[in-house]
Amino acid sequence: MAAVRSMSAATCRAAIPCAVAAKGAARARAQFSLGTACPVQASAPLKMSGRFALSASCAQLRNCAARSAANLSWSRAMTGGLSLTPFENEKPKRGHHRRQNVEAAAKNGKGDVGEGKYKDSVNLPATKFDMRANSVVREPQIQKLWEEKKVEERLFERSGGEPFVLHDGPPYANGDLHIGHALNKILKDIINRYHILQGRKVKFVPGWDCHGLPIELKVLQSMTADQRKELTPIKLRKKAAQFAVKTVDAQREQFKRYGIWGDWDHPYLTLKPEYEAAQIGVFGKMVLNGHIYRGKKPVHWSPSSQTALAEAELEYPEGHVSKSIYVAFPLTSFSDKFPKELKALQGEVSLAIWTTTPWTMPGNAAVAVNGELDYAIVELQPAEETVSESASEGTPADEPEQKKKKGSAPPKSSPGSALQSSKHLVVAKDLVPTLESKWGVKLTVKGEVKGAQLEGSAYRHPLFERESPVVIGGDYITTESGTGLVHTAPGHGQEDYVTGLKYDLPLLSPVNDRGDFTEEAGKFQGLNVLGDGNTAIVSALDEAQALLLEEAYSHKYPYDWRTKKPTIFRATEQWFASVTGFKQAALDAISTVEWIPQVGQNRITAMTVGRSDWCISRQRNWGVPIPVFYDKESGEPLMTEETIAHVQGIVREKGTDAWFYMEVADLLPDGHKADADKYRKGTDTMDVWFDSGSSWSGVVDSRDGLRLPSDLVLEGSDQHRGWFQSSLLTSVASTGQAPYKSVLTHGFVLDERGLKMSKSLGNVIDPRLVINGGKNQKTEPAYGADVLRLWVSSVDYTGDVLIGPGIVRQMSDTYRKFRGTLRYLLGNLFDFDPTKDVLPYSSLPAVDRYTLAKLAGVMGEVRESYEKYQFYRFYQLVQRFMVVDLSNFYFDICKDRLYIDSPDGFSRRAAQTVLSSTLLCLVRAIAPVLPHMAEDAWQNLPHKIETRGGVAETVFEAGWPEVEEEWRTFSEEDSAFWAKLLLIRNEVNKVIEAARNAKLIGASLEAKAILCATDPAVAEKLRGMADGAHPVDQLRYMFITSQVEVLDSREAFEALNPEHRNTADIEGVGELLVGVVRADGGKCERCWNYSTLVGSSEAHPTLCERCEPVIEKRGAEKPLEAVAA
Ligand SMILES: [Zn+2]
Repeated sequence: MAAVRSMSAATCRAAIPCAVAAKGAARARAQFSLGTACPVQASAPLKMSGRFALSASCAQLRNCAARSAANLSWSRAMTGGLSLTPFENEKPKRGHHRRQNVEAAAKNGKGDVGEGKYKDSVNLPATKFDMRANSVVREPQIQKLWEEKKVEERLFERSGGEPFVLHDGPPYANGDLHIGHALNKILKDIINRYHILQGRKVKFVPGWDCHGLPIELKVLQSMTADQRKELTPIKLRKKAAQFAVKTVDAQREQFKRYGIWGDWDHPYLTLKPEYEAAQIGVFGKMVLNGHIYRGKKPVHWSPSSQTALAEAELEYPEGHVSKSIYVAFPLTSFSDKFPKELKALQGEVSLAIWTTTPWTMPGNAAVAVNGELDYAIVELQPAEETVSESASEGTPADEPEQKKKKGSAPPKSSPGSALQSSKHLVVAKDLVPTLESKWGVKLTVKGEVKGAQLEGSAYRHPLFERESPVVIGGDYITTESGTGLVHTAPGHGQEDYVTGLKYDLPLLSPVNDRGDFTEEAGKFQGLNVLGDGNTAIVSALDEAQALLLEEAYSHKYPYDWRTKKPTIFRATEQWFASVTGFKQAALDAISTVEWIPQVGQNRITAMTVGRSDWCISRQRNWGVPIPVFYDKESGEPLMTEETIAHVQGIVREKGTDAWFYMEVADLLPDGHKADADKYRKGTDTMDVWFDSGSSWSGVVDSRDGLRLPSDLVLEGSDQHRGWFQSSLLTSVASTGQAPYKSVLTHGFVLDERGLKMSKSLGNVIDPRLVINGGKNQKTEPAYGADVLRLWVSSVDYTGDVLIGPGIVRQMSDTYRKFRGTLRYLLGNLFDFDPTKDVLPYSSLPAVDRYTLAKLAGVMGEVRESYEKYQFYRFYQLVQRFMVVDLSNFYFDICKDRLYIDSPDGFSRRAAQTVLSSTLLCLVRAIAPVLPHMAEDAWQNLPHKIETRGGVAETVFEAGWPEVEEEWRTFSEEDSAFWAKLLLIRNEVNKVIEAARNAKLIGASLEAKAILCATDPAVAEKLRGMADGAHPVDQLRYMFITSQVEVLDSREAFEALNPEHRNTADIEGVGELLVGVVRADGGKCERCWNYSTLVGSSEAHPTLCERCEPVIEKRGAEKPLEAVAA
């Protein structure tokens, strides 16, 4: 054993050279301030030259501040003792060893410092678990180890637990991954790995969304004009598929590098034949359930992409300004309900409407009013104050012109000819004052009429020779804007469409795919509705004496999210899923799902309630075809259970390309083959949201090891109107059930200042750069995947989350704390066999039982934080435990007994019992978040760990650690006392620090602490601990001083009047007098503790009473010379 020890120590020296000696200046400074132990325990004054002396004193200040603050902020506590494991302080210069008295003493035996007899009698830590992560090399090695050992597969096979199915929402196979992808997949992996540790059967099938316009556009953009001419749908599809598969390969490698476990060899791709077949199956079920229909309906149409768009494909950018117009439609007849007294005005009254889309005028089929609203018949007169001025210009009241003359902003509105020519107008009564000022005229109310009394009146279209009715619209007609009368074009708006159905209005939509007016629009044919067509309509209205006012209007307007161009509403022949038909079922299904956070339920409910039928057809080539045939003559569609099943079978075998290259006769089932000539195949493909929305069928319901409904789906909060919804709708429409049990959402990733990441701002954080570093590794170091993962665990992802270089650096520091903790644990367990050396709980000293109680508490909370997906709690809990409870306290006080006691002495084995439990708990508790680090530690365990399944070769095979029940038996009262003791310890450290600064002492072991508590109960407890029932629990060890004296009275303290003293008032402790004097007796050569008994042994005159028997025992077992060899 001794030989192993000395060899291991040598290995450590070689592996971690002294920070000061080996690193560059800047690095050393950082290392030193991080790695140096609190100077409270420094063993000698700092005697260092130049920059290190300076940085050391900075470190000193920071350390002490951190130590003394009762409320340790973690970043400051970072500079506490933990990092300076003995490994980092190899080959100390004289006076440099500060805290590590024991191992420093051992090293004193080394040649350059002098001949020490006891140099190899100290139990120095030993482990090959490197403080330096070397993630760029080590993480891929660990991933390879998992792969070679087939850990995932074996755990899946071996587990007898319930399946846990986290179903992956597919990212789009287009471009590189960004930090948002990393957040998403790492969250999923943390959850999966946690469930694996819990013994669940976990199979994660990652997926990709492969069809759709963006890929089609990429292919088109990569071709020359000539090549494009040659392009057939099937050629385009081949190129698109190649592009998608290539992107999938690249993204897959990046995901794997994050350490994401999953069936990467068999991911689901929406372009795979088996997936496409399942999708057609879902579509077929919806057809059979009567939820699919063909109809002419207004849809969001993108002239720039020449296709219909789904809600999810729209965006509403800031700054859109429309040309809005007020138009007068002359009434040709009053309805019977119209008040008799006003009928005299017949022929002089026009309806005033307002619209932000003048180009929809040719589609006008009605004017809608709200039946409940009051309307006024107003007479137009020029506004008095502006008559003289505007008269000279030949225009009536012209407010904007006035403004212009005063030198203000250019006019936002210009009056139309109808302000002069109209005599009476119908407007909502409440809006009269608003319109007066807007139009710059005087409006005199001549009479009032209810909306319902207007219904059935007729008006003449100012541009086309036709009459149309006044109708009652819905609640959407208000007096918030406009005139209270709504221009209704059923071919260009959803509400108008619904009103049109009610009144059987014609569905006019004289606009083609490119957004140009068609022949139906008469003289406007060929003009573009978003450009010259819009302007031409306004001019024509003005010429027709129908334009009241034109006005620029800023509002939210839907744009195509890909081309960033405005869209229009346009009625086309499309295929629809009749959401109205199964809306209630969808709402019922929503209520069966757990939405995390809860607000998600409101979001998706509102979106489902508000949504109209889902237009699922697209006029593109790169997608899954709608399996429909049309009668060449009548245009009637042919789509039956039989035809769909036949196509589905072909697709399963050959993929959807078959639809494009096969003849109609081959695509039709036998029953229809004979009249194949009568039919043509449809050319529409399905909305890609239908693709990804079918994944519950194509994946969860199709793959072995998965089951419907999935336990969890986890995506960005924008998916309430995207994938969560499309999955829900297809599933409810075909099976009546929700496809998932719970839905977890996360926010978006912003930069450190909370700004959206963009290339132009230069604030994009590339996950690959975080992991592998940049060209200049000094400014862009390689942090590894675990640091990225630690960041994911640290953020509250229910809202938007931040990342930037500073945050990543901070994560890297925390990562080092975790690593340092594991290294300390591993290093001090090299000779501890948990199957043989564990001591019974009841025999352990109080401080050890206190630490196990803390561990049990933390493990319970960590588990709960995983169960509730609150990983930031995991992050805070584990970090605080490692820094405050372990590094700053337990690890600190344990070194003495770990290094000095006999290797198998009680106090050492007791500490190791605690350390072993701590290691085996922590390494598994952090494994979901930091799998590489945890595995690295596991591979460096000094002893094999047996579990129910045999030796756990990897950390994940070990399963989630069970906490011993007896660890929880430590009483609350005792816990409270220990918490107080730690506060007292802080006060003692402050006075020790003062004594050190005054050069009374160097190391804390040169001190004797004097305490006097005025609270009798506290005083008694402290007296009890001064000598202590259990030697390990003695106060001197808690304070790392050589002696502690607890005085009975203030008088006694004053009589002694220690040179360095302080009076503290500690909550729960009361007034406490603390003094520090030099320790009594001489310094032990081996352990550097002071004792009056040093010199009393004849054989070992330089040893203390603790070291002497240890050396005697060792000598009996093995001569010292042999150990040294
Ligand atoms: Zn000693």
